[in-house]
Amino acid sequence: MKKFSKKNKKIVGSISLERFVHFQCGSCRRWWGIGDAPIRKEWYCPWCAVKQTFVDKMSKDLS
Ligand SMILES: [Zn+2]
Repeated sequence: MKKFSKKNKKIVGSISLERFVHFQCGSCRRWWGIGDAPIRKEWYCPWCAVKQTFVDKMSKDLS
């Protein structure tokens, strides 16, 4: 049987993509971010707790 050698071992990593969404509150103007945020337009600001509608200027997939 072939002996397992560290030198011949192929190290295989993995990558994945995350969509990180940046929000700016329309009330207090502070920022927060959510990785892979669910598609929706209405969010509560974690800073001032104001519910608001967000307009996505970068892509059209929220419409
Ligand atoms: Zn706010």
